[in-house]
Amino acid sequence: MNIEQKEILAKVKAGGRLTTTEAVELLEVKGTDIYQVIAAAEEVKQQLVGDRVTYVINYNLNLTNVCVNNCAFCGFHQDVNSSDAYQLTAQEINQHLDKAEEANVSEICLVSGLHPEFDLSTYLKIIEKIKEQLPEVHLHGITPAELEHALREQSLSFKEGYRLLKEAGLDSVPGTAAEILVPEVRTKICPNKISTQNWIKAIKAAHQVGLRSTATILYGHLETIPQRIEHLKIIRDIQDETNGFTEFIPLSFIPYNTSLGQSGQVKNETTGREDLLMIAVARLFLDNIPNIQASWVKYGPKLAQLMLSAGANDLGGTLFNENISQAAGKDTGEYLAPERIVTLISDMGYQPRQRKTCYDLI
Ligand code: SF4
Repeated sequence: MNIEQKEILAKVKAGGRLTTTEAVELLEVKGTDIYQVIAAAEEVKQQLVGDRVTYVINYNLNLTNVCVNNCAFCGFHQDVNSSDAYQLTAQEINQHLDKAEEANVSEICLVSGLHPEFDLSTYLKIIEKIKEQLPEVHLHGITPAELEHALREQSLSFKEGYRLLKEAGLDSVPGTAAEILVPEVRTKICPNKISTQNWIKAIKAAHQVGLRSTATILYGHLETIPQRIEHLKIIRDIQDETNGFTEFIPLSFIPYNTSLGQSGQVKNETTGREDLLMIAVARLFLDNIPNIQASWVKYGPKLAQLMLSAGANDLGGTLFNENISQAAGKDTGEYLAPERIVTLISDMGYQPRQRKTCYDLI
């Protein structure tokens, strides 16, 4: 590691804020230098949250895989006439809610394709139904992209939309659909999905009406290293303004069943070095977001476990019924039992704690 890089690490460990240029420098280190970045991230994490590592028991409810979009990184969506298309019936939704209740989950995560017939009233009804059956469960759902789609024929603002959803029972919002907030990359990977500008407007609107959200990045497709940091800067700036993000979740791109993968534009998944550094640099750069999640669904339980000593302090959810990464070709499984999560955390020498969606401990 050169002197300049060592000085960057010394500055951030002393509480200084990283510039984008410094963060790019750290994201590009190789060889054993990665362990110095990882150690710095772990030191900063220990100062903030100690050795507690959290997880949440949650259930994924994907109402439909039918989507008006055809994002190049997505293996989940189906055309409405496809033989693989599905839309859950009222009875199937009831069965899922029964299963979630049996599993004693604290969160339902409601994320779906953008069905051509879904509008705001569709979401209001489903939220009311879930809350009627499971009033104590935290309802995390309706991404900015879903809200924009739901409002396409109405003159409501994002703020009015999220306010109505909150009144119906929505408790918080997934920060997915951000993918990478760089217009020139979005044009290539998701030209018809919510724009960078509208994603920012929608997520701020959620925060303004009192709905907290997660923040994510989808990386490892067509973006450059500086563009990864450009995205992180947008997230950090929003957090300075609203303080509405509960956590940051890096998500590595899974190319196999997607058009980016099948067309040969992206041949491989990201490397272990890139993934460990994404966690570590996110911890160092996002000095205003206390929680960094290592997603076992994306990285597999073993690498996610190692990320707990690279700045991550959360292993995410049990994710009963995970569909979206599976559809993209990931084989890490659709569910990780709480006992297994606890073992992974304890084995690292950390304290496992079950949490609720917004990080209140259970
Ligand atoms: S990522 Fe979302 S919006 Fe894009 S095609 Fe897939 S389901 Fe549709």
